[in-house]
Amino acid sequence: MALIGHMGAMIDQKGALVLFSGGQDSTVCLAWALERYGRVETVGFDYGQRHAIEMEARTRVRRCLAERFADWDLRLGQDHVLDMRGFGAVAESALTDDRAIEMTAKGLPSTFVPGRNLAFFVYAAALADRRGLRALIGGMCETDFSGYPDCRRDTLEAMQQALNLGMAQDFVIETPLMHMTKAETWALAKTLGGETLVEVIVEHSHTCYLGVRDVQHPWGYGCGTCPACELRVRGWEGWVQQDRRSLSL
Ligand code: ZN
Repeated sequence: MALIGHMGAMIDQKGALVLFSGGQDSTVCLAWALERYGRVETVGFDYGQRHAIEMEARTRVRRCLAERFADWDLRLGQDHVLDMRGFGAVAESALTDDRAIEMTAKGLPSTFVPGRNLAFFVYAAALADRRGLRALIGGMCETDFSGYPDCRRDTLEAMQQALNLGMAQDFVIETPLMHMTKAETWALAKTLGGETLVEVIVEHSHTCYLGVRDVQHPWGYGCGTCPACELRVRGWEGWVQQDRRSLSL
């Protein structure tokens, strides 16, 4: 049965699994999925992150979305956290140990964990198979991120093909933020859930690589200087300017 959602879009009853880290991008992806799919489950990965903060943000964001959006509450299903610490131990990087965040000889930031997104999708697809969910949704973005090769659309198209061949499935990997700037991601959040969703993201989503939660800025909590914070600040400032301009038209 198809239902009409808030934005007039048809609600797809096939179900979706959102790769959900509790950060800004995956929160917007979760809202995007909740506008489109009749059943939306979330999956998080414990790969030995430095910060339990990321896991706590997931719980808070899910709870806030359910409390503040009645339609989304009806569609939001189970949360799953998969233990991938074995993978984290193999693919050691600045995110999982105390090395400084710097550029490597390949021109990649040391925050890049080789194969991480690929491994996430294998685990997510295995879970989606068991849960009867068809869409796999991730917040990967190739527009203004650090050039992670596993965030590129062509990588994910190859991944989708490999998963479908290897699991005899017809999964669809969806990446709604793929070609958006960070400013456009804020604008999408406002379109999907108005100021309420923007507030949930500012207050509860987590981005900072250093795990800073005790310093608050207009765009949220964080150190304000690590690469993840810098990206979030730039996006926020760009969006605020655009949003003010459009409101004054
Ligand atoms: Zn930071």
